[in-house]
Amino acid sequence: MTIAVYPGSFDPITNGHIDIVKRASSLFDYLIIAVYDRPEKNLLFSVDERIELARIASNDIPNVSVQAFSGLVVDFIHHMKADVMIRGLRANSDFEREFEMALMNHKLAPDIELVCLMTSAKYQFISSSVIKEVARLGGCLEDMVPTHVAAALITKYADYIREVEKRTSGGYNSHNPRT
Ligand code: ADP
Repeated sequence: MTIAVYPGSFDPITNGHIDIVKRASSLFDYLIIAVYDRPEKNLLFSVDERIELARIASNDIPNVSVQAFSGLVVDFIHHMKADVMIRGLRANSDFEREFEMALMNHKLAPDIELVCLMTSAKYQFISSSVIKEVARLGGCLEDMVPTHVAAALITKYADYIREVEKRTSGGYNSHNPRT
């Protein structure tokens, strides 16, 4: 039985991530989506929230589970008795960083094989950070994240949007250009 681990921040999970999950889960017997608890990034969602959003998104795929991890991903992969690490690649933006990380991980744990899946063209432009920016500015997230993720983003940014609307009332309001 080959177990694969797909690690990441998933802040939040997007349709680009889910596409990689679906494809990886058909290549391997079992796939663990591994949510990194404290990446060096400004996080919007807590680790519990990111896990919950990923769980709902992968609920209908029987050989997938979601778990948090801390520390080195290679240690987590050994701990789970997994064999393969999955990463997703978008053109240009990801290659150099992923290559650097792959070499370091290989040095730390030569027994773990890395499998990179190329993004599907329709998800090439999707990243969690762009999704958060669009959500913060009140843009439509259709086809980019599942509806439960869109709802979680709207809730997170509701206070921010209310504040912007208050400040811009009487002038141009980008969330409602007719006012
Ligand atoms: P990290 O902080 O580890 O980069 P992310 O959640 O941003 O975590 O990404 C996790 C993995 O998913 C990475 O390998 C990233 O390149 C990949 N990924 C992110 N967005 C997409 C996408 N739209 N299509 C394919 N792969 C993606």
